[in-house]
Amino acid sequence: MAITNRRKFLKGLALGAFSAPFFSKKLLVFHDQTDREKKGEMFYRRLGRTDLQISEISLGGSPIPDWAILTQIVERGVNYIDSSHSYSNGNSERTIGRLFKEMGRDKLYVGTKFHARRNWNEQTILKSVEGSLKRLQTDHIDVLLIHGVDNEETLTDERVLSAYDKMRKQGKFRFTGISCHSNHHKVVKKAIECGHYDMVQLGYNVFDIEDTDEEQDIETYDDYLGTSGIRQLISLAKSKDVGIIAMKTLKVAGKRQNLETYKTEDSSIFQIMLKWALSNTNIASVVTEILTFEQMEEDLAVVHHPLTARERSALYRFVAENSKDYCHMCGQCELHCPEGVKTTTILRYLAYYEGYEKHDRAKRDYQSLRPEERAPSCQNCGRCEGLCPYGIAIRQKIHYAHTQLV
Ligand code: SF4
Ligand code: SF4
Repeated sequence: MAITNRRKFLKGLALGAFSAPFFSKKLLVFHDQTDREKKGEMFYRRLGRTDLQISEISLGGSPIPDWAILTQIVERGVNYIDSSHSYSNGNSERTIGRLFKEMGRDKLYVGTKFHARRNWNEQTILKSVEGSLKRLQTDHIDVLLIHGVDNEETLTDERVLSAYDKMRKQGKFRFTGISCHSNHHKVVKKAIECGHYDMVQLGYNVFDIEDTDEEQDIETYDDYLGTSGIRQLISLAKSKDVGIIAMKTLKVAGKRQNLETYKTEDSSIFQIMLKWALSNTNIASVVTEILTFEQMEEDLAVVHHPLTARERSALYRFVAENSKDYCHMCGQCELHCPEGVKTTTILRYLAYYEGYEKHDRAKRDYQSLRPEERAPSCQNCGRCEGLCPYGIAIRQKIHYAHTQLV
């Protein structure tokens, strides 16, 4: 989340009204109170069959906030932090290790990750997790996830399962999980159905509102371009008791601009997005980056107030006006590019650059792609755009990304 933009946005909140002509009382759906437990000022939900009761707002560990903010966030009831061996060169895990030492290991849960891509095997997984345990200064990880799975074969690969098995016997983690940024329809579905994974962390964003959802009376947006299928995957997870943590909930389409026009008298568009995600009771928590005290107040406040009709109306307008710029990371274009251009990946890095304003990270990630995977290898065949269910101008966007990220 861009600090400056969110700060400016909060300061800019002013009284204003937006009519809600599209919404009936049926849309006033909020948290199912029976699924939430309140302790102090935070609400907690069960993370599927892990049985962990985690805070409705959890903290993203890339980057991790300064110490004073971090301790406040935990004291305010956030009890789940998402990390990875790779975040901030291990400093994310080191800082969480300090938290465990100073605030108590039982004060919070950590989910951290290993990679299973590019030159990996069982030994690299075991070594990666050993490093995580050392940095975290703990003898066990609460949820051990495979980082950014983009193909379903990885989920049942013998090397992964064997590594998990060995570490489980040694008590090095409690629960399994995956994070998924693309190719959700295959990867998340298999992760839920194969039985090896207790939870899934996946992107869930207002642009995933659907026009064919079984609950369409609640979530129909007439001019939405297509169907992401994410909500059905989340419902499937619920049916198998696989926990869901939503991420990328505050991702916006294209540049962060004119977001103030979507505020209501009570909430910023970011708060509305968080409330919308939490209104899905099949989600245990929304993981979000919090880097300032203002962001902390903004994000933690949402658990106390239901999404109103006026806020849904603002959301409707936001989606209607911006969905053409929003890549859902379905992965279809990248899977089928005959030249091997990493289109989905490049669009993700462009989102880091434009949406989250993480310029250094976006450039570093893009430059780590092999030359043949970058935009100049595109031969302009148009296949990707023919496959995109959302009408994204992929060629124009990847070439633009290249000009910004090299
Ligand atoms: S237009 Fe370019 S990026 Fe798209 S499929 Fe063809 S070669 Fe790949
Ligand atoms: S550009 Fe379209 S096809 Fe490619 S990942 Fe994004 S939504 Fe999917």
